[in-house]
Amino acid sequence: MSAKANIGVVGLAVMGSNLARNLASREGNTVAVYNRSSARTEQLITEHPEAGFIASETIDDFVASLAKPRTAIIMVQAGAGTDAVISQLAERFEPGDIIVDGGNALFTDTIRREKDVSATGVHFVGAGISGGEEGALKGPSIMPGGSVESYKTLGPILSSIAAIAEGEPCVTHVGTDGAGHFVKMIHNGIEYADMQLIAEAYDLLRKIGGYTPAEIADIFTEWNTGELESYLIEITAEVLKQVDAKTGQPLVDVILDEAGSKGTGVWTVQTALNLGVPVSGIAEAVFARSLSSQRAQRDAANSLPARNFAFEVPDKAAFVEDVRRALYASKIIAYAQGFDAIRAGAAEYNWNINLGAVSKIWRGGCIIRAQFLNRIAEAYDKDAELLSLLLDPYFTNAVSESLGSWRRIVAGSSLGGIPIPAFASSLSYYDGLRAERLPAAVVQGQRDFFGAHTYKRVDLPGTFHTLWSGDRSEVEAEPSTH
Ligand code: NAP
Repeated sequence: MSAKANIGVVGLAVMGSNLARNLASREGNTVAVYNRSSARTEQLITEHPEAGFIASETIDDFVASLAKPRTAIIMVQAGAGTDAVISQLAERFEPGDIIVDGGNALFTDTIRREKDVSATGVHFVGAGISGGEEGALKGPSIMPGGSVESYKTLGPILSSIAAIAEGEPCVTHVGTDGAGHFVKMIHNGIEYADMQLIAEAYDLLRKIGGYTPAEIADIFTEWNTGELESYLIEITAEVLKQVDAKTGQPLVDVILDEAGSKGTGVWTVQTALNLGVPVSGIAEAVFARSLSSQRAQRDAANSLPARNFAFEVPDKAAFVEDVRRALYASKIIAYAQGFDAIRAGAAEYNWNINLGAVSKIWRGGCIIRAQFLNRIAEAYDKDAELLSLLLDPYFTNAVSESLGSWRRIVAGSSLGGIPIPAFASSLSYYDGLRAERLPAAVVQGQRDFFGAHTYKRVDLPGTFHTLWSGDRSEVEAEPSTH
């Protein structure tokens, strides 16, 4: 074999094929391709002769077709398929070569794989890739982890295929081992919250505002010219405009209202629970999908009493503006919580993650791309140690200006019996965060009463316990370990 490829792709289903084509279209890349079943390889090279792929039918030939240091991106089914391909490559690669997993792996799997593979001297990079099929072809947002050394080779290749936002490629070395997949997971968690919030805004405009889906599409299109400008608002308007060819009704009215998921939202919430970070907006979005899919329970429950009151809307234009502001404020909470989770993950797993750089690479290519990410980048550029996004003056002000609207929407929805789990929990989170005193003191008292779990006092150092079943005097105690 004469010509060698500087990059290879293993796994040529939709994501891998598109990524390989994207790589091949960039100056300076020669791309090797391999798929377990050769029919997919045949199809790709037949349909895209312009790409000049070096195709192989065996993994040995594929490895031989790569120039050193060999670099291969795996785009196969997450889980066992990924493990199988990693071990095939690791057996054949030499120290200094680079294996990149571009699939949707759980970050703890990536940490494990990186440990195993790097012990052989081969670099292993878990890279989150967002943007779906179109992103893979035209420019995704890429979140690579792995070693700093591997990024020297990989960085220019990934930069060549990533989306461009404001002149910058949407890729950065996020951190070592599983950092890239961790950040991709949080991206997806935020995506869940953003989608749910937009859906709640739609529901209010429909049920309380009385607007048709086509009218709501116009409202969203208008919103998309301001601070809410984002891919998700844009595509929601497209979905709401769509008319069903079979019935002539708005498509949204004939789509079954049971939301599916592939699990990354659940991973985000599980991880955040383990880290002790409240990602309540994301959690409510995940639970809202779960509730929507409880068909039998919902059918049995839909005659339960509502006893609701009217959600009075004296001025429809003012109501629409209230919904917009409530959406913006809740969205800020979702991102603040997501970035908190990244910060906590970085501390737990020893990653040096630049939060400003993360927000910049989400400005293009990915599903949550939005203007608003520029403001987040500015906030972290000004203060990398910012304790919460809500403490940055821009966001403090944005939420403050929206508070009246937000409270009217949450209160009105509760009176009107409209479920708005993400709007409401985001507002409660905000009020909880800013509260000077929380009822957690009561919880500590309860814990001490039934389990002698001890408590601290506001006025004295040390740890205390009240002798609840004795004379109720207070004693100094060792901090509880259970
Ligand atoms: P997919 O349906 O997840 O996987 C199919 C590919 O995996 C095929 O090439 C298949 O080879 C290969 N494969 C499965 N088990 C294998 C094994 N044991 N050994 C070797 N190859 C094996 O494909 P996809 O939708 O293109 O996604 C690829 C990866 O990207 C996944 O991890 C996915 O989670 C991630 N991802 C997808 C999207 C998206 O929008 N679809 C977005 C971001 C990330 P055969 O052809 O031989 O069966």
